[in-house]
Amino acid sequence: MTNPTIGIMGAMPEEIDGVISLMDKPKRTVIGMRAYTSGTINGINTVVVFSRWGKVAASATAATLIHIFNITELIFTGVAGAIDSTLKIGDVVLAKRLIQHDLDARPLMGRFEIPLLGMTYLEVPEETIGILKETIAPLFTNGILQESIGENVLAEFGINTPNLHIGDIASGDQFFAAEAQKKQLNAALPTVLCVEMEGAAVAQVCYEHSIPFTVIRTISDTADEKSHVDFPRFISKVSSQYSLLIVQHLYRGHIQPLS
Ligand code: SAH
Repeated sequence: MTNPTIGIMGAMPEEIDGVISLMDKPKRTVIGMRAYTSGTINGINTVVVFSRWGKVAASATAATLIHIFNITELIFTGVAGAIDSTLKIGDVVLAKRLIQHDLDARPLMGRFEIPLLGMTYLEVPEETIGILKETIAPLFTNGILQESIGENVLAEFGINTPNLHIGDIASGDQFFAAEAQKKQLNAALPTVLCVEMEGAAVAQVCYEHSIPFTVIRTISDTADEKSHVDFPRFISKVSSQYSLLIVQHLYRGHIQPLS
C-alpha cells in the first residue's frame, strides 16, 4: 500500500492557516495562483491549500493535489449557507451526497445529471460516514467547541448548542443571499441541507480519480437577506476554529480507515 497523503482544502485562507499551524516541516509550493503547503500532521503526509471560490477554481485545485502532490484522500472544510430550516448558524454538515445544483443539460439528460458519468449525486460510503461521525461527534456532545472558542464568542453569532448533521450538500457558482433563491433550490432539491460553491465539484474530480473525499461545512449564514452575519469575524473567530478542531479530531481518530 502506498503511504497515505491527505489533501486538505479550505474555502477561506484563514481556515487553512490554522491547519498549517498543525504541520511539521511545512514547505510552500506555488502553482497556478495557489499556495500548497506540504508537511506532516501527526506523522501523516498532508498537503493544505486554499481552494479559491467556485466550482472551476476548486476543481483545478483538487486536480493539482491529485496529480502533482499524489494525495490518496481529500478533505474539504469550509463555510456554507443553510437551506434546510432546521439548520442553525454554527451547525456543521457532513456531506453524505453532493449535487451540482446549477448543472442542467436538459433535454440531453436529466436535470442535475453529470454529463458522461450518468450520475446525479456523488456519494460518500456509509462506512466512511460512520467513521467520520464517530470522530467528530465529541466536538458537539462534549462541549469542546464551546470550550475552545468561548461561549461568549459563540453567543455573538447566536450559537448556543451547535449540532452535527449528515446529509445532502448542493454546490454551484452562485452565492445565495435571497429567500426566493433559497426557496427555488429547496423546491427542486428538498433533501439539500446547505449550499456552497465547491464541494460537489471537488467530489466529482475525486470520484473520477478514485480518491476518497470528505466534505465538512460549518453553517455561516442562512443564505437569505436576513443573514447579517459579520462574515470576516465569523471566519476568523468561529469557522477557522471549527476547521482546526475538525482536522485535529480527524487525525486523532486515525485517519487511514477512511481510504
Ligand atoms: N463573502 C465572503 C467571501 C466568500 S463567500 C467574504 O466576504 O469574505 C464564498 C464561500 O463561502 C464559498 O467557499 C462558498 O462555498 C461558501 N458559502 C457560504 N455561504 C454561502 C451561501 N449562502 N451561498 C453560497 N456559498 C456560500
